[in-house]
Amino acid sequence: MLQLLIGFLLAFFIAALAWRFNALSRSGVVAATLVGGLVFGLGGPTWGAVMVAFFVLSSLLSFWQSEKKRAAAREHAKHSRRDGIQVLANGGLAAGLALGVGLITHAGSLYPWLTLAYFGALSAAAADTWATEIGMMSSRPPRLITSGQPVARGQSGGISGLGLVASLAGGLMMGVSAFAFIQLASLLTNGTWFLQDWFLLPVCALAGLGGSVVDSLLGASLQHQYYCPQCQTVTERRIHTCGQTTQSWRGLPWMNNDVVNFLTTVAGAVVAVIAALPILV
Ligand SMILES: [Zn+2]
Repeated sequence: MLQLLIGFLLAFFIAALAWRFNALSRSGVVAATLVGGLVFGLGGPTWGAVMVAFFVLSSLLSFWQSEKKRAAAREHAKHSRRDGIQVLANGGLAAGLALGVGLITHAGSLYPWLTLAYFGALSAAAADTWATEIGMMSSRPPRLITSGQPVARGQSGGISGLGLVASLAGGLMMGVSAFAFIQLASLLTNGTWFLQDWFLLPVCALAGLGGSVVDSLLGASLQHQYYCPQCQTVTERRIHTCGQTTQSWRGLPWMNNDVVNFLTTVAGAVVAVIAALPILV
């Protein structure tokens, strides 16, 4: 109970700091406190530290702006200040997995798998951010993952070589963070390294790549997209930047960017668990 209370206080402190630096909106602070509190309070310090690493790295990347990125972000209906729904889309699965840990206790045989799924979910969320933020810097236009046809920068479903490398790197960074915090925790509690967790590096990189591929596949097929008749462009906005009301173009009405982001974290969790099977079983 005390750990949960400290978890919520710590999460609120970090979320308020993020709000101060314009990385979160007010509803984003509420959602981040809920997600962070459950992760710190039930998952434990290592889970919490990896989430902070995810949040700091993603926020730093989002602040690193260029004109190319700003133009694409306007079409994407996104900006660097995350709201509550966006936080839940990226962190909802992580919070659910932390609840799972709270229900089964740390000694349960499911614990390593829940932890792997958690690292995989964060890897996919990080990879999505890295692929978007760095992929937009690609000098070549992205191509639709399904047909290979060139699409506008930032349009859902588009991939580039640079974007795929960035998603591998985003996942790898989560693996490095997880491995580093596990070593720290082991040194502090047992006084020894815990190097057998090295496999988290390739597993998290794969989870990041897998999440990005699923994100792009959904973006190219089921994700809801609008079309602005005045600018003749595809967008995720109901009201376009030009002021024109857009028309529904394709996809399922409820499959918006947030649903796709949530499913991306599910894909990352599944890939991480499957990739670790040969090592852990
Ligand atoms: Zn328009």
